[in-house]
Amino acid sequence: MAFKNQELAALMERVIKRNPGEPEFHQAVQEVLESLEPVVERRPEFLTKGVLECLVEPERIIKFRVPWVDDQGKVQVNRGFRVQFNSAIGPYKGGLRLHPSVYEGIIKFLGFEQVFKNSLTGLPIGGGKGGSDFDPKGKSDAEVMRFCQSFMTELCRHIGPDTDVPAGDIGVGAREIGYMFGQYKRIRNEFTGVLTGKGLTYGGSLARKEATGYGLCYFTEEMLKAAGKSFEGKRVVISGSGNVAIYAHEKATSLGAKVVAMSDSNGYIYDADGVCLDTVKGIKEVRRGRIKEYLDTHPKAEYHEGCKNIWTIACDVALPCATQNELDGDAAATLVKNGVIAVAEGANMPSTPDAIHTFQKNGVLFGPAKAANAGGVATSALEMSQNSMRYSWTFEEVDAKLHQIMKGIYANAAKAAEEYGMKGNLVAGANIAGFLKVAESMLAFGAC
Ligand code: NDP
Repeated sequence: MAFKNQELAALMERVIKRNPGEPEFHQAVQEVLESLEPVVERRPEFLTKGVLECLVEPERIIKFRVPWVDDQGKVQVNRGFRVQFNSAIGPYKGGLRLHPSVYEGIIKFLGFEQVFKNSLTGLPIGGGKGGSDFDPKGKSDAEVMRFCQSFMTELCRHIGPDTDVPAGDIGVGAREIGYMFGQYKRIRNEFTGVLTGKGLTYGGSLARKEATGYGLCYFTEEMLKAAGKSFEGKRVVISGSGNVAIYAHEKATSLGAKVVAMSDSNGYIYDADGVCLDTVKGIKEVRRGRIKEYLDTHPKAEYHEGCKNIWTIACDVALPCATQNELDGDAAATLVKNGVIAVAEGANMPSTPDAIHTFQKNGVLFGPAKAANAGGVATSALEMSQNSMRYSWTFEEVDAKLHQIMKGIYANAAKAAEEYGMKGNLVAGANIAGFLKVAESMLAFGAC
């Protein structure tokens, strides 16, 4: 889509020029700037006073060498990143991703999205993201530990409970957070809530593990409710079988839906009787195995190589929970043809712009990642609160707060969309609602 506002168009051109070879970052910025057209029409000072110009430039990018020794005694070298994108409303907050595809552009896109998402939660957290091109797959526990310790040896200079509080993301779960927290504590000689997603014995929050997936379903439930529908009796397809996907399955099922397909980066399973979550947890959380092993105990289910065709399975609700740009225009058209009524993003930016356009054009309820998957970071912020208080809430208390936060995010995104003449467009609504709080703060600071 072309910009009507020439200054926004020029800003987008500058972003592309200044950040060459980073298509994911361009895509994320383009979407936000498009949504903000009606906002700058009413509030031109966001442009004239440089707020938008600052917003698309990270406050700080830290890029470092991560040397570690493999089990053969050989030195391996990876690249580490932390993009501290925006601290206007609180300390930088956002996950760490360990995946071979990681480069600066991926971390920048994720950090940029995180700014708006964190603002939408209503909690005082700024936006950041980090990670490395290290691939934990196939590595021994000792190798993962040596990598994480080396990574934290550098990162610990740049983070802190009031500065920057990283968490997990793809490839970073409880094991990696444990190794990193241990190393931070050893070097800094302090026990603080510097990371979230910690183990329950050393400051973690109950319900953090479940939060992104549960929050995604709470958000989807609100979208469905507003349209007079519910999860009850719906067929659901979920891509991925990691942290977000597993707990999206758990909550969707508890709300009366049947999850019929899940995937990993090799392929997908289809089980017409409903995917057995205990089996998937055993494969993924306990054994770190592959999704195709599901057929060992469920021979009537199907396994297909490659993940893209998961979207050819007919469903009422689709929850992409694996990775960016995993659902394109063709996949969206197929989902629409097969009668999908709602799509909500558990992963960050899993739908391409074409796919989003297809859903919106066809009246499919669409929950964008910034809003729909914000339950993870919201609960991370609740973990920070508990750490500061040196106190722990029960699972039920955290879950109830999460549920309230997700309802609030839905209401705010829906309200902003309506106020700016785009009723029902939660992409625009989430971008606008998230933006306004950050932008007002930046304005208050003067030259930001
Ligand atoms: P996990 O590492 O636990 O799981 C990721 C899942 O996605 C795995 O099943 C993985 O398969 C699959 N996957 C990863 N990369 C690809 C790829 N390139 N193509 C196909 N499948 C892929 O990560 P999370 O569940 O934590 O994260 C999933 C998504 O949710 C990410 O986009 C993340 O940024 C987002 N997110 C996560 C939050 C959290 O709290 N964890 C919070 C908000 C967003 P395999 O095992 O084969 O690699």
